Amino acid sequence: MEQKQKRTELSEIGEFGLIDRIKSKFTLQHEASVKGIGDDAAVVDAGEKFLLISTDMLVEGIHFDLSYVPIRHLGYKAVAVNVSDIAAMNGIPKQITVSIAISNRFSLEAIEAFYEGVKFACENYRVDLVGGDTTSSTSGFIVSVSILGEVEKENICYRSGARPNDIICATGDLGAAYVGLQVLEREKQVFLSNPDMQPELSGYDYLVQRQLKPEARMDLIHELKEMNLAPSAMMDISDGLASELLHIATSSEVGISIYEDKLPIDKSTFDTAVEFKLDPITCALNGGEDYELLFTIRQDDYEKIKKHPDIAMIGYVTQKEQGNVFTTKSGNTVGLKAQGWQHFQ
Ligand code: ADP
Ligand code: MG
Repeated sequence: MEQKQKRTELSEIGEFGLIDRIKSKFTLQHEASVKGIGDDAAVVDAGEKFLLISTDMLVEGIHFDLSYVPIRHLGYKAVAVNVSDIAAMNGIPKQITVSIAISNRFSLEAIEAFYEGVKFACENYRVDLVGGDTTSSTSGFIVSVSILGEVEKENICYRSGARPNDIICATGDLGAAYVGLQVLEREKQVFLSNPDMQPELSGYDYLVQRQLKPEARMDLIHELKEMNLAPSAMMDISDGLASELLHIATSSEVGISIYEDKLPIDKSTFDTAVEFKLDPITCALNGGEDYELLFTIRQDDYEKIKKHPDIAMIGYVTQKEQGNVFTTKSGNTVGLKAQGWQHFQ
């Protein structure tokens, strides 16, 4: 009798479960493959330095909506999000390849506008476009960028280096990109219901900009270097702070304790979240696409950053047994949970 093949829905294991499954099937064969799946970038021993490799794909309808994302901005963002993964390893980006799948919906002018954005990002982050691939797609636009970077071996930062008593830091402010997305979505709905209406984005400039034109925090990577401060662990905040904290906790085998009143939230993020009947704290914890840096430092390094205007100390690392906790303003302690971006749901 023919046996029926088991079918497991991807939604049962989720994106990270799937990545773990893939990872479990492969072993690294080369001594030079220092770090494979599981961090912001792969690490290859290139002799004097470590080479960093990362890749990110953006898919129309999943990651962006061209009805309100200018295609030039998309080009910029596709590069910036990759640079962010090199920054997350404490590295310097060097080269990218850009691969695109396009349908006949797109004109030469549109593709050129996309590459203007790519070029602007290349100049801004000092990376060279060295190749790519071009193919057709049945309807949407897909862009996949791969990036190479490098870092001195002693300065590499993994997700796994956090130790109990380390201080947890986040750069910039959080939740703005998510709230910016809500603003853009609202204006799209207004436009769809009445095409004569013009989008009303004034007053939301910062939020919209954070969504459309995120920046990788290379500025802070350079600053940390000047301060002679190597974080003990680091990653970038792409899926939302809570999700990233849990990655650090798992990779470093530690517990995490963070505080609501320490979360860096811009005033316009806060006010607009309230206007949209969203909890600003949830936006900061789970919003995603901030592309800020989340890192931990040893207590001894506290003095070096305590006055930095763009670095917030949001909590500290504990023993694994203490779990991952979030302390509210009123002093209640709740378990830290990730909502983040969940694919396959
Ligand atoms: P990030 O959000 O920093 O881009 P991801 O969550 O996309 O990281 O990926 C986490 C890790 O899993 C990375 O090391 C990445 O290279 C790896 N990864 C993701 N998807 C795949 C895949 N399909 N095959 C192999 N490795 C993957
Ligand atoms: Mg990352």
